[in-house]
Amino acid sequence: MKNKVFDTIIIGGGASGLSAAIFAAGGGCNVLILEQKEKLCKKIYATGNGKCNFTNKEWQPAYFRGEAPSLAEPVLRAFSLTDTLEFFKKIGVYPKERNGYYYPNSEQAASVAENLIREAERLGVQYVTDVKVSGVYKDKEGRFAAETENGVYYGKSMVLATGGKASPAHGSDGSGYFFAKSFGHRIIQPLPAIVQLKAEGKFFKTLAGVRTEGSVTLCIGKERYKEEGELLFAAYGISGIPVMQVSRYASVALAKKQSVTAELDLFLNLSETELAEEILRRFSRMKQTTAEEALAGLCNHKLNYVLLQQCGLEPTKQAVAYGKKEAAALAEKIKHFTVKITDTNGFEQAQACTGGVPLTELTEHMESKLLTGLFVTGELADIDGTCGGYNLQWAWSSGAAAGKKIGGTYASHSTAENKNRA
Ligand SMILES: Cc1cc2nc3c(=O)[nH]c(=O)nc-3n(C[C@H](O)[C@H](O)[C@H](O)COP(=O)(O)OP(=O)(O)OC[C@H]3O[C@@H](n4cnc5c(N)ncnc54)[C@H](O)[C@@H]3O)c2cc1C
Repeated sequence: MKNKVFDTIIIGGGASGLSAAIFAAGGGCNVLILEQKEKLCKKIYATGNGKCNFTNKEWQPAYFRGEAPSLAEPVLRAFSLTDTLEFFKKIGVYPKERNGYYYPNSEQAASVAENLIREAERLGVQYVTDVKVSGVYKDKEGRFAAETENGVYYGKSMVLATGGKASPAHGSDGSGYFFAKSFGHRIIQPLPAIVQLKAEGKFFKTLAGVRTEGSVTLCIGKERYKEEGELLFAAYGISGIPVMQVSRYASVALAKKQSVTAELDLFLNLSETELAEEILRRFSRMKQTTAEEALAGLCNHKLNYVLLQQCGLEPTKQAVAYGKKEAAALAEKIKHFTVKITDTNGFEQAQACTGGVPLTELTEHMESKLLTGLFVTGELADIDGTCGGYNLQWAWSSGAAAGKKIGGTYASHSTAENKNRA
């Protein structure tokens, strides 16, 4: 295997690597995947809480972020939602849609991973697992070389599908950046995205575990990023899908040493005025009760306690001691609960990462503009999607773009049969 020159060598057997492999092999290429983990697609098994949200019905350019997100559009259009659903049905993954989010009908991420692997095997893709690529280069004969502790593997072309730095436990340890850099590419600083946010405040220990519907508005200078949904409090700060959605902006701003705050609206159904009236009604109606008891049933009881304290009110004091002014202060606090964001939970907890190889240095086939035959796919390229299946969609689309180009350029087999099969 090591003396053989493959049509393409794919470094990384994750989502985009498998997509590239299947399309390259389908186009008649002999393909080798080198994967450092003990099995292919390790991260896919963990996606969508084990259910794998592999794409989304709704598609808007704003769901894909980076320095030049408009350059992702042709890639996403060339392998669209329809193509994705057809492809997965063809390889055995019947889709199920819930609120626009697509999952396998089995609701098991394993079925996505296993069908991808089976399809790659059916097309003759070869792979070696438990092998870390330590270096890449182009040799004097013009071959792409991948160095491993087992020796060097050669390809006529090469795909860097190593992922970024998010969730290194699943294999994406950032080595792809060094490979891309060694071929002359610029690397936009990778930062955690789709990640929980750490915030200042001793009260977070009290609030740990509290969930509530609400909105988060991230404030960075004059910029505002707002999302609604279920907010989750933790001892370190805030989490939940709305927080994860805006987290990449916090990451980027914190890296630039900018001040970041998050304003939480903890009661979406009432305006501040309505809320103040409701609180005042509660204060004056229950004469024998404490302020904390008067708020029971408004927000989560731990939240009520912290909100009173944050307004300088005594939770155990009789409710009647408080009037219009205190009710207004509480309503303001509930609608604009503002916390200072100090950090993210880091790459370990992140589901994606910002940065990577700039799209301006890649063609719409994900081929390097600096070095013909070199391809960069998935999260290693500078695109991060929002929650909802967009990161995997990017992995499928960018992998397909590279795989199809490789299949059409480097194939050493007759393609007729293979093209039908892919
Ligand atoms: C917990 C979790 C849940 C997620 N859920 C979703 C979801 O539901 N929907 C969604 O759209 N996105 C989800 N994502 C994001 C999505 O999984 C990734 O964006 C996507 O997998 C990226 O694909 P990739 O091919 O770029 O990289 P990866 O899938 O990370 O694959 C890269 C592969 O390269 C290998 N590799 C790296 N370096 C080397 C080396 N030097 N030598 C050999 N092999 C190497 C790694 O071991 C890895 O297998 C989730 C992520 C996480 C962590």
